[in-house]
Amino acid sequence: MNLYTYCKSCKKDIKIKSQADTRHDLQMEKGREFKVNCLSCGSIEKKHVNDVKAEVNNKIIYFGIGLGVVATITLLYFYGAIGTLSGLIPILFWRQQMSSIKSFNSFMVKR
Ligand SMILES: [Zn+2]
Repeated sequence: MNLYTYCKSCKKDIKIKSQADTRHDLQMEKGREFKVNCLSCGSIEKKHVNDVKAEVNNKIIYFGIGLGVVATITLLYFYGAIGTLSGLIPILFWRQQMSSIKSFNSFMVKR
């Protein structure tokens, strides 16, 4: 998943570079409030970890789709119809993303 917040000046999304899985992890990493730099208008703002939202990382979904297609073709060749089960791989990637996004967005730290 990707983490982002928004810029008060130009209302554009600002991406946050972090591997944190929850707001708590993000707070441990960056502090309860941290500075972000908007790449669109250049303004620097202080953001609270609760202002950060998680969204789907499309790269991971595409990776899952790619992996699913390759695995399906390979398994179809060797094992026949059962290989189509690997078409479920992108769905598993999607579900995993959705559950981590949900857990990130539903947990707020105390202000
Ligand atoms: Zn901005």
